[in-house]
Amino acid sequence: MTYNAPVADMLFALRHVAGLDRLIADGLAPGLEEDVTPAILEEAAKFAAERLAPLNRIGDQEGATFKGGAVKTAPGFREAYRDWAAAGWNALPGPSEFGGQGLPTLVATACGEMWNSACMAFSLGPLLTFGAMEALHQHGSEKLKETYLAKLVSGEWMGTMNLTEPQAGSDLSTLRTRAERMGDGTYKITGQKIFITYGDHDLTENIIHLVLARLKDAPPGTRGISLFLVPKFLVKADGSIGEPNDVRCHSIEHKLGIHASPTCTMVYGDKGGATGFLIGEENRGLACMFTMMNNARLNVGAQGVAIAECATQQALAHARERRQGRAPGAKGEQMSPIVEQPDVQRMLLTMRGLTQAARALCYLTAEAIDRAQRSGTPEARLAAFERASILTPIAKAFSTDIGVEVASLGVQVHGGMGFIEETGAAQHLRDARIAPIYEGTNGIQAIDLVTRKLPLSEGQAVLSLIAGMRSTAQKLVGINNPAFGQMAARLREAVEALDRATQYMLGVLNHAPRDALAGATPYLRLFGVTQGTAALAEMALAAQAQSVKGDADPALAGRIGLARFFAENITTGASGLETTITAGAASVHDNALALAS
Ligand SMILES: Cc1cc2nc3c(=O)[nH]c(=O)nc-3n(C[C@H](O)[C@H](O)[C@H](O)COP(=O)(O)OP(=O)(O)OC[C@H]3O[C@@H](n4cnc5c(N)ncnc54)[C@H](O)[C@@H]3O)c2cc1C
Repeated sequence: MTYNAPVADMLFALRHVAGLDRLIADGLAPGLEEDVTPAILEEAAKFAAERLAPLNRIGDQEGATFKGGAVKTAPGFREAYRDWAAAGWNALPGPSEFGGQGLPTLVATACGEMWNSACMAFSLGPLLTFGAMEALHQHGSEKLKETYLAKLVSGEWMGTMNLTEPQAGSDLSTLRTRAERMGDGTYKITGQKIFITYGDHDLTENIIHLVLARLKDAPPGTRGISLFLVPKFLVKADGSIGEPNDVRCHSIEHKLGIHASPTCTMVYGDKGGATGFLIGEENRGLACMFTMMNNARLNVGAQGVAIAECATQQALAHARERRQGRAPGAKGEQMSPIVEQPDVQRMLLTMRGLTQAARALCYLTAEAIDRAQRSGTPEARLAAFERASILTPIAKAFSTDIGVEVASLGVQVHGGMGFIEETGAAQHLRDARIAPIYEGTNGIQAIDLVTRKLPLSEGQAVLSLIAGMRSTAQKLVGINNPAFGQMAARLREAVEALDRATQYMLGVLNHAPRDALAGATPYLRLFGVTQGTAALAEMALAAQAQSVKGDADPALAGRIGLARFFAENITTGASGLETTITAGAASVHDNALALAS
């Protein structure tokens, strides 16, 4: 399948939803002052289409292989990675003092979507390296940064994230990997990790593992976890590669999708212990790892958007070609292209609407992260940090859920051919399916949103986000354009439903936590749908303003039409979600008996 990066859609959302121009005007996006964003996106799109998209099918068919204790990536991956690093793409979000371009998360998120659309199994490796770079930059000692960071930024080495063990998945408190102090500042690491993405491969000479482990005298539970940097090869004083460390890949998994991304079982300490270096403080490792995980959560959200975008492109192309039946009002004797059938149009508009809503959510999150890191005053940084904290689980879970839904609709639009591997529609669905699971399952994201994020600043942080959506609904009221249909009314209803559901959640959190947990997933969905509606409405308003100024771009009417479709066909589910959240919990508890047999 050919992939055409939707650069115009991305730029429109960056400007009119995420406020890219304001970020630049506020001096928070150094490097983007000369309006270079379109050029960066175009170049990233070119690399995605020309170098990564051709790997997608062969990667799926051939996958990564494990032989003689080592992982070999699929044909073409080594060359593509070499060119990726040489072109400087790995350095895009990296800190400038270590050779990175230091570009805002907002731009990195947009580029990340394109690379993941083109080949998710390839782009997952750099995605984790970006997270490792950030964790090391924020929490590593100067010595560790000097030794490892520049090489991670340039892409000469890649990074991994080692949390999961057989008995410790969503709940890391039972983690068993051990760390022992060696008295010279280093530690010996012993244990087994499972499901480690790119835990071994042949793309780079060295691999830098970030590993969670427990010291002997550590307090129990998550308060006793430390983070260590464990290189595949030890690094000599002059920075060159030295002896192999005591870490190996034991095997790789056979999976439903992302076949070209090696998912490794890693063994540390066969020969007495792998040499590890502490990142941050002892027993504070989970907090450091959260830096990496938050970064990765947004990027995994962008993977959901990425798959949704290419599934939509492919389904639309098929629907224009395939002829079946006669559409209502069709002239002549010929069968109509199925794109003219209202039910197929509904599927395609749902796909496009969900994709653009999720993209906007990811951009809002990225913008909040940029302001949290770069704003001039502590108050501005705190407000943005709280906004980012609330939006991150929503961006991750909503976007990856819709990634699966849209990919599934893509199969449906193809009919029987969608179920046949040749088409490629099935691969999107298989690849998309992991994203709601890794980086914290979507159920865990919903629980995080409700139990840890809603209470921030005593609920004021979430209420201020809701106030923003209400003000978008207010702007729609004054629009005198029939193309907007019932957008204002539907958005207003959804915002009020979200507000009531939020008050309900804040109320039950302390005295009936089971009720809050039972409603967490529908609550996250309601938030995503409402924030997504508001974002599409903002784009519709911007499109209207441009048309009024005389801009004749036909895409502008399409933006208004898509926002209207979303409000009148998807946002309408908000009231049902509210009822589920506020009145459905008891039946979850009472009917647990229904699962007893
Ligand atoms: C392809 C792939 C790549 C991966 N890459 C990495 C990697 O690079 N590094 C790494 O460390 N890990 C990685 N993982 C592991 C991944 O992050 C975990 O699989 C995931 O966090 C879920 O953990 P689990 O599999 O143990 O599921 P469980 O924790 O057993 O969860 C099973 C189900 O129960 C639910 N659940 C669990 N606890 C609760 C709770 N308290 N409340 C409500 N619901 C709950 C979950 O939401 C889920 O639906 C990868 C996994 C895969 C499959």
